[in-house]
Amino acid sequence: MNILIIGSGGRESAFAYKIAQSPKLTNLYIAPGNAGTTKYGKNVNLKVTDFEGIANFALEHNIDLILVGPEEPLVKGIHDYFLEREDTKHIAIIGPQKAGATLEGSKDFSKEFMFRHNIPTAAYKSFNRSNLEEGLAYLETQKLPIVLKADGLAAGKGVLICETLEQAKTELKAMIEEAKFGDASSVVVVEEYLKGIELSVFVLTDGESYKILPSAKDYKRVGEGDTGLNTGGMGSISPVPFADETFMAKVEERIIKPTIEGLKKDGIPYKGFIFIGLMNVNGDPYVIEYNVRMGDPETESVMPRIESDLVDLLEGVAKGDLANRTYTVSPKTAVTVMLVSGGYPGDYESGKVISNIENVKESIVFHAGTKEVDGQVVTAGGRVIAVTTLQDNLFKALQQATADAGRIFFEGKYFRTDIGFDLI
Ligand code: ATP
Repeated sequence: MNILIIGSGGRESAFAYKIAQSPKLTNLYIAPGNAGTTKYGKNVNLKVTDFEGIANFALEHNIDLILVGPEEPLVKGIHDYFLEREDTKHIAIIGPQKAGATLEGSKDFSKEFMFRHNIPTAAYKSFNRSNLEEGLAYLETQKLPIVLKADGLAAGKGVLICETLEQAKTELKAMIEEAKFGDASSVVVVEEYLKGIELSVFVLTDGESYKILPSAKDYKRVGEGDTGLNTGGMGSISPVPFADETFMAKVEERIIKPTIEGLKKDGIPYKGFIFIGLMNVNGDPYVIEYNVRMGDPETESVMPRIESDLVDLLEGVAKGDLANRTYTVSPKTAVTVMLVSGGYPGDYESGKVISNIENVKESIVFHAGTKEVDGQVVTAGGRVIAVTTLQDNLFKALQQATADAGRIFFEGKYFRTDIGFDLI
């Protein structure tokens, strides 16, 4: 099978690593990829939203299956584009069509979806320019803190947790009237605050049946002890110790089954990953958000734990017989530590030479923001490299991943040494 992965981050590196192990693979391409994905396949210099370029490449290289990593091409309709073209509709796309991608593309839509299908989530109301006054009055009836969410995609920055009523009012006005997050905040979801501990659950589905992938928890804040600014993710662990059998049974019955059934009832076809961001509130799961793709850096912890052939599973998704495919998971614990550029998530410099990667022997090195310049691997983003290790327990995994993160060098390198520590 010829496979094309769309994307360039640590997530896509982890997909490439796993797919490259498959006996079913003939050729693997990654568009655009990074300096590390060349270990598993060939990089293709195409933008993730250049649908025509991707289609032409896929036809020229007899691509059978395209795995879409990031949300942007899905929300913009890459899957629909391939289905609409006579010459590309035979190519399997892993990732939903636009209708399904709206679960991530619009928070208002996803909240309506959850309420329609009785899926536990925080209470909410949506507001826009036409009912802003009503929104401001609604805020006065809410308990603090109040959660405000830009409806559309805002690169993970569109959620504000307001500690005072004044702040909530000012921010609601700024989001709607001053377009604080551009078009994304022309509609704002005002949500009840849920107190609990977060985790992520991933599902792979062909629209009928599903496999529940290993659970994971990511660490979003830049500083140790989960302090400081939010980032794209500083590390992750899998499995999540408190996501035990009892908890996961609740997740499956109350959330996963009604989500898959809800999509079917609403006539929304869905082939791909569903990333369910959950809050564990006193042992009960509530949905914080849906994403229509895998998470980054969670994928880097999840992929190494999947023992079965990922290509076989993806083929099951494409053909609609996922239920018949073998699926097993390693009982080991994965810890992923993200090496970032100094200054990230604020301003940082790129182009720093990365060395000593070969000194890492016990962990997997997934490149993220890296590129090759004149035969040297250099930094090319905020999140540079993800180091993942698999061990018998969380403590050992944390120690190993942290030690290996320390072995790689580039100027300004920073990483957290406490990924998973709160759960030991
Ligand atoms: P990302 O995709 O980067 O996770 P996002 O912009 O899609 O973020 P959400 O995941 O919905 O937004 O929210 C971001 C974060 O805000 C959550 O991870 C969670 O920590 C917090 N949050 C969101 N909704 C609530 C809520 N109702 N109660 C408490 N915290 C919340």
